[in-house]
Amino acid sequence: MMTTLGSASAPPGEFDAGRLAVGETRDGSTVGLPVAVLNGADDGKTLYVQAVSDGDELNGLGVINRLVPQLDPAEIAGEILLVGIVNYHGFQVAEHRNPIDDTKMNRAYPGDANGTSSERIAAATFEAAKRADLVVDLHQGRTSRMINEARVRCGPRHRLHRECLELAKVFGTGYVLDQKGPDGQLARAAPDNGIPTIDPELGGAVGWDEESVEVGLEGMLRVLRYYGFLDGDVEREMQTRASGFDQYGSPAGGLVSFEKGLGERVDRGDALFEVTDTFGSLKGRVTADNDGIFWRSRRLPQVATGEYVCSVGTDVDQF
Ligand SMILES: [Zn+2]
Repeated sequence: MMTTLGSASAPPGEFDAGRLAVGETRDGSTVGLPVAVLNGADDGKTLYVQAVSDGDELNGLGVINRLVPQLDPAEIAGEILLVGIVNYHGFQVAEHRNPIDDTKMNRAYPGDANGTSSERIAAATFEAAKRADLVVDLHQGRTSRMINEARVRCGPRHRLHRECLELAKVFGTGYVLDQKGPDGQLARAAPDNGIPTIDPELGGAVGWDEESVEVGLEGMLRVLRYYGFLDGDVEREMQTRASGFDQYGSPAGGLVSFEKGLGERVDRGDALFEVTDTFGSLKGRVTADNDGIFWRSRRLPQVATGEYVCSVGTDVDQF
């Protein structure tokens, strides 16, 4: 049986790359998302992987870019469907949202084939995702600083919660955010269609962060082994899970210096950051409202009053 996605089509034991057409650009040329299919020599499950749903999040593209050359279709069981760049228009200009309709792609799923630019791209990629037994949607914490984590977004009461958590544990970055996500996320729409899905968040960087790309690559290889696409055993390691997320803004305008590092344990009342003025005078100091783990922080030190500074993962346990 041929495996086909857009113009990519491969018989068993072969790989092919092509384009998935989703309308036209403003000059009338075809919008073709770069897609690929890897049709394993043996039968097995189907995995759907996508990256750059947010146009400035390139670590997932780095993972696909390094993963595919390592895979020999002759040694694979099952099929892998890949969309390398989802947010075509955002990627061209290195912006987070799709500039055609100023929409965040990961709020547009499952999409609409007759809708806006983002809805059409979501519909076309969701059509491919629906063919899979497992979905991995590669993201990162934008350009902020963030730990490497995998997100489970279906919510703890979803019938696929256990399967999604298992996939997150197999991916194995060490940290999992287990919290129901907003409407329109692929990691919510795909579980609603019966497909276990994770949204790995591979750090946060401008461009490619080699360490996070490597974590993502290892995670993909573990998923491929655990679910039988590749030979080999996978040790599932304990993950640190946060089920809540406290976000902190600045009490004043100025320059932020952090009192905690990424991944560091936070106790209620601990100092998280200070804000000073241009000449170093203290303007404010913010302490933690709850116990947790220092999860994410802004990259640039300058902040306005109320501007986002950092996040603490809360309700932490191990699983
Ligand atoms: Zn993202």
